[in-house]
Order: sequence, then structure tokens, then C-alpha cells
Amino acid sequence: MIFNTEMELMPIDKLRTVQNERLVSTLQRAYNNIPFYKDLYDQAGVNLSEIKSVNDLHKLPFTKKNHLRENYPFGMLAVPQTELSRVHCSSGTTGKPTVVAYTKNDIEVFSEVVARSLAAAGCKPGMKLQNAYGYGLFTGGIGIHYGAEKLGMAVVPISGGGTEKQIMLLKDFQAEALTATPSYALTIAEELKKRGEDIRDFNLKVAVLGAEPWSEALRSEVEQGLNLKASNIYGLSEIIGPGVSNEDFEEQGTGSYIWEDHFFPEIVDKVTGEPLPYGEPGVLVLTSLTKEAMPMVRYWTGDITTLTYEHSEKRTHIKMGPIIGRADDMMIIRGVNFFHTQVADILPDFPQLSANYQVVLTRPKNMDAVEVGIEINPSYFNHYGIPFDDLNGGAPDEVKKLISNIQKKIKDNIGLGMAVKLYQNGSLPQSDGGKLNRILDNR
Ligand code: ADP
Repeated sequence: MIFNTEMELMPIDKLRTVQNERLVSTLQRAYNNIPFYKDLYDQAGVNLSEIKSVNDLHKLPFTKKNHLRENYPFGMLAVPQTELSRVHCSSGTTGKPTVVAYTKNDIEVFSEVVARSLAAAGCKPGMKLQNAYGYGLFTGGIGIHYGAEKLGMAVVPISGGGTEKQIMLLKDFQAEALTATPSYALTIAEELKKRGEDIRDFNLKVAVLGAEPWSEALRSEVEQGLNLKASNIYGLSEIIGPGVSNEDFEEQGTGSYIWEDHFFPEIVDKVTGEPLPYGEPGVLVLTSLTKEAMPMVRYWTGDITTLTYEHSEKRTHIKMGPIIGRADDMMIIRGVNFFHTQVADILPDFPQLSANYQVVLTRPKNMDAVEVGIEINPSYFNHYGIPFDDLNGGAPDEVKKLISNIQKKIKDNIGLGMAVKLYQNGSLPQSDGGKLNRILDNR
């Protein structure tokens, strides 16, 4: 379903006109009200009157996460604090969090883009949505909540965790939709299997999953386990929160529509920062076009993806591919370039494993060492009667053989020797927002 036909189907030249007008007023707002932007542009020698359209954006310097940190807590505001409606923090795990703030109208925009996203994912007015995103400082929980209400859904604000209760309420309330991180949706799916629940006792039709990278393998496990269609939602606090883009459930795998009338996307080279043509992978850079409290101009997301209009069938807006890595994420381990997504790529070869993994880096004796933690697929283990109480130390021969096969595959495909440790379903440590950190760098 299309939530806002006027904006989502707007002809592209008209959309450009809207974007250009909004960009000019965003730049004025930022320059006139935020000393950070005034200094940034003055020092770069930019004359803002020369920036008339989104095509001129590349002349401006980037805004980066450290700029937000340096202006903690309210230095990036373009409005007096008395005009704020809400303040959130991003789920940063180190140092001071990144603060983001919203006016009443910003909350309206946030709800609008989430409503569009949920509708694209197959949600409809009248459906019940169990929202298993964390409520709190993290933008996910309340952000989804407001958008779902705007769409006309009934929200069950259960927040993250408490899998047993999640399952009980999904069954008793017969919610048609679930929002969660993909790793948590998988935890629910696996717990259902483990408990021998009959999926026919549930009424789920769609899941809208995001806030962390996930793979097609994970999608199919969640879709099969919960008997629904799972779509991707993408976003980041600095730009608004979840709902910057969303996949259409009938166009799965072809990318997520970016709501271009509110967020203008560019792809740039991760080293030079130069703009790249559509279709080429690079860093996603986003400019907010309507945000009042905290306009963001050319925000360097660090997320690596592609942009293209090629697959935009139902709407005029551009699509972004899945996040294939982070600009700061490529690791060089003992001389080998390594992205943790390379681990995700080999997991489907092992039916004994789930798609949840975590890469832990350490440096014993000044040499980088990598350990991959992987959650097992409990239904497989149950089926074959392999005990999994003690997966690692003193494991039975089958498990030892499995671990050595995974190690061999990693060595062959990635070119690095890594230790492998198996975990029970749902037991890899998650961050506060319920996200599974794919990389723990303890070096
Ligand atoms: P949020 O509160 O929306 O999760 P954060 O600022 O805490 O925002 O984290 C945003 C980051 O999370 C993004 O820059 C990206 O790296 C990651 N992320 C969010 N959604 C997705 C997604 N669907 N796929 C991959 N990564 C995602």
C-alpha cells in the first residue's frame, strides 16, 4: 500500500523542484542558527548563495559523527530548546552518546516516513503491530510506535526482550505485524521452533526489520520460521531514526525506497569523498530537507551501499541496496582485508547454524586474533539428537567436526584462520538498543 500517493508518486522533475526549495531553506536555517555550520562553510570558503540545487551539494563539506560529539549536547540545534518536543540519543556504545532533537513538526515528519515505510512493508490500517524495538533513548521504539499509529494500526508496545512474553502476546493478541531487529526476530522464530509451537496458532503476516545489517539467509529463516514476509527498514538517529528508507514487500531484494522529499541521498567514494555514479558502491551521505531542530547537511553515514532508480517500479523515489559494510569497518587482519559480512556469506552452507554471528578481535602477543561466535540452529540440533548443552568444551565428535569444517571454510573463503565458538540460540550479547554488534574490537 502507498501511504502518501502525492509525494511517493511525484514525477521526478517536480520532486527535484521540491528538493531544491527545501535544500535552500535548510542551508539558510543551518548557517544562520548553528555556529558549527557557519564556521564550517566560512572556513571552506563556500558562498551559500551558489548552492541552488541538489546538484550543487557536492561543493559543501561533510558533516560527521565527531562534529555531533564535539557539540554535545545541544550545539547542533537550530531552534531554542523551548521549541523542542523530544530528545533521543543514538545507541553509541563508547563515549558520550550522540544527541538528536526534534520539534513538533520533526516528530510529524518522523511519523510520516515511518507510516510510509510500514505501508510499503505490507502493514495496513486496522492491523495490530507488536513493536519489539527497544523503547527509550533509542529512536527505534517510539519512532515506530508513532508511525504505526499514524498509519492507523494498533500498537502493542512490548519493547525488546522477554521472548516468552513476546510469543504469548503474539499468540493471544493475533498481531499481524512485528517490528524488531532481524537478529531478535530470528530469536523469536527459533524459540517458537524449539518449543514446538504450531505456526497456525499465530496470525503474523509481515515483519519490518532493521537497525542492523542482515542477509538474505537471515530473511528466509525469519520468513519460514514466522510464516510472514520480512522487509528491510533503514535509518539512523542523526537523520531522523528508522524510516529513512524501506523495502516494498512486493519488490523484495531490489532495494529500499529512500523518502527523497525529506532526505536527499548521495553516494561518495569512501577514501576521496568524491561523488560516485548510481550503481557503484560507496558511502551513503544524507541531507535532511525538512528537519527543523537539527538540520543535517551532507551527513556521512559511514554505511556502504548503492543507489539506483532502476528498480523503482511502484514509486518515483530512488532505492538503496542493502548495507554491505561500513566505511570504518573494513579491517586489515594480518594483512588480509576483511569485512565481517564475509562470515555471513558462508553461514548458509551450514544448516546446523543460524544466521546470527559476531566477530571478536583481540591482540594476544601483539598479533591480531579473530574469533567468530555463531548461534546454532536449535531445530537442526534437536532433529539430529545432537546434545548442545556443552557446545564447545567437551563437545561430542559431531560438534567438534562441525567447528573444524566451519574453520576450514572460513580459511578457504576469507584467507584467514579464525577460532570458532558456537552459542545457544539468542545468547550472543546484544547492545542496549537490542542490536547485535557484529564486531567487538577488543584489541
Ligand atoms: P537507529 O536508532 O535508527 O538504529 P543508530 O544511529 O543507533 O540509529 O544506528 C544507525 C546505524 O544502524 C546506521 O548508520 C546503520 O549502520 C545501522 N542500520 C540501521 N538500519 C539498518 C539496516 N536496515 N541495515 C543495515 N544497517 C542498518
